[in-house]
Amino acid sequence: MPAIFFGHGNPMNALLQNDYTEGWAALGRELPRPQAVLCVSAHWYFPATAVTANAAPRTIHDFGGFPRELYEVRYPAPGSPSLARRVQELLRPVQVKSDESWGLDHGTWSVLCHVFPEADVPVVQLSIDETEPPEFHYELGRRLSPLREEGVLVLGSGNLVHNLHTYTWGRHRVEPFDWAVRFEQQARELMSSGNDAPLVNYEQLGRDAQLSAPTPDHYLPLLYVLGLRRAGEEVSFPVAGMDGGSVSMLTIRLG
Ligand code: ZN
Repeated sequence: MPAIFFGHGNPMNALLQNDYTEGWAALGRELPRPQAVLCVSAHWYFPATAVTANAAPRTIHDFGGFPRELYEVRYPAPGSPSLARRVQELLRPVQVKSDESWGLDHGTWSVLCHVFPEADVPVVQLSIDETEPPEFHYELGRRLSPLREEGVLVLGSGNLVHNLHTYTWGRHRVEPFDWAVRFEQQARELMSSGNDAPLVNYEQLGRDAQLSAPTPDHYLPLLYVLGLRRAGEEVSFPVAGMDGGSVSMLTIRLG
């Protein structure tokens, strides 16, 4: 299976049809059909590594101030307790909590409702332990790589550039910030040349990186996906765009 990082952006993408959502839907039609999806979402960022173990995960509306119709979206994909156990086994000796309280947050469903609109592929989420450094998350990605041979589509969902202080809400197009464009370009070049180390140590990449990833939550899912990469494997960018000037919608596909 390929491994994919989705830039999910505005939760309203769940209801919209635009270049991003059409790109996600096209990917869904073209991908080999997975047995299950494991998604590392920026929106399950808390002080532990955990997996959703529910057989029927609920749809979580983890945002405020959006139109009512967005709160009515349900993504009724089944869970997969067996995949949750497999993840626990692969990540040992890291303790992975089996969680029954979370479900699918909008980092997962706002994208998957376009990729797999029938909601018929089981989905498990893996949390991001906020107490751990970037190398930890990259290493967990490496340990998860056998899943690719087991028919599991591993996804990261965040945004390579995610600065909501500078983000412009609304439908009109705005020019992207120069630092956002430069950081995205730098990241693309590093990924294309297979040079992961500077991306793992992104906090040392200077001011463009600081402005692009002012908090780690939306950036770290990328490190899981990069950790899943095979030596010399091709990287492609099937969806791109800078939303609101400072949210990169770049989709990164390995394999
Ligand atoms: Zn988000």
